[in-house]
Amino acid sequence: MEAALFWRKEFETLDRCELEKLQLDRFRERMQYVYDHSPFYKRKYDIAGVHPRDITTLADISTIPLTVKEELRESQAAKPPWGDFMCVPPEQAVRVFQTTGTTGIPVKVALNRTDWNVHYYEQFMHFMTGYGITSSDILFVPFNYGLYIAWWGLQAALEQAGVMIVPGGGQSTELRVRNIFDWGATVVCGTPTYLLYLGETARQMGLDLAGSSVRKIVAAGEPGANVPSTKKALSELWGAECFDDIGSSEITNFGFECMAHAGTHVIESMFYAECLDPDTLEPVAPGQVGELVLSNLCTETMPLLRWRTKDLVRFNVEPCACGRTFLRLDGGILGRSDDMFQYAGVNIFPSGVENLIREVPEFASEYQIIVPKMGSGRHLKIRVEPACAGMPAAHVDQAVERFIETFRYRITVTPDVEVVGCQQLPRFEHKAKRLFWEE
Ligand SMILES: [Zn+2]
Repeated sequence: MEAALFWRKEFETLDRCELEKLQLDRFRERMQYVYDHSPFYKRKYDIAGVHPRDITTLADISTIPLTVKEELRESQAAKPPWGDFMCVPPEQAVRVFQTTGTTGIPVKVALNRTDWNVHYYEQFMHFMTGYGITSSDILFVPFNYGLYIAWWGLQAALEQAGVMIVPGGGQSTELRVRNIFDWGATVVCGTPTYLLYLGETARQMGLDLAGSSVRKIVAAGEPGANVPSTKKALSELWGAECFDDIGSSEITNFGFECMAHAGTHVIESMFYAECLDPDTLEPVAPGQVGELVLSNLCTETMPLLRWRTKDLVRFNVEPCACGRTFLRLDGGILGRSDDMFQYAGVNIFPSGVENLIREVPEFASEYQIIVPKMGSGRHLKIRVEPACAGMPAAHVDQAVERFIETFRYRITVTPDVEVVGCQQLPRFEHKAKRLFWEE
């Protein structure tokens, strides 16, 4: 079956002027809606002295206060369990989730029937056509379905689109590898970390995923699919085309990589995106790194306006080779603004370190970064594993030397490298924790 090129061509190829007009109309309408239906937003905007009628241009949006995750947490703590930011009564929700709690107490999220059946579907159909998935594909989902949103949404939307889905929950990693072969899966989704782990496990089982019928892999839940060396490692391990897929429980699913593989598109008909300097909160120009701030232009249950994602991105507003005019995030998500750390006066992104590690074939894909206590005089430490057991020590030593040299050249810092035994570092299904601060 031939893959469709667009899902909503009438929006995806709009010239930017028209697109901005559409965004302004939708933003104003959503702002009036949250002002009328969400006590949280009414209070917030009244205190700030802003009113939906004041917004007449996209530039006016910068006068509206930002929304941060801590506010949602506080709202739910003050009025458990839902807080007062929702725009519909909780009993209208048909799906509930919670955030992963990587950075604190999880936030509860609800979706009503329209959000679930219409808006979620719409978002995933943009993704599916972007990736070139068709109703002839067989999708394997190697996860337990729980309170984490991602796989439920994908399952529901792709099911509506007629894609066969093989649920891979409640299984060991080995069994999942076997099932990918047994069921003839053509598409597998997962976090970049877990997709790498599935690949490593297959190798240990003497199986080659590149020889399976998998032709596309969709990596979500963490930055990585657009870190060049990780993308290369994933594509080679699976012998498949690798796509970056971005969303979060709170703001829903906003970004997908198209078949031109030239950045990650934002669904701009459904989201208004801004890129701000995380410190000054002033807009940064396309091509500059800043924090992604998103507004929901369609959802009903808990639309968020000017939501700080804490994701660092670089906008590209040039039309893409695929024909879409939706803006692209060059390199996908570059890191988290709260993950970026300073060492020896240098701003270091974990994704930058990851890229260097995954360029070294003698190292396995797992790693840890240990940031020393200020003033301790100790070096930044990178903990790695050899790619396979029984690798000669001299071989590993040479790889470590080469790695330190490249690290010094590209990041301008000299790290210590500790090599631990094979499979000693923890593996993760969802959010990986690889950055540690020394006490
Ligand atoms: Zn494109």
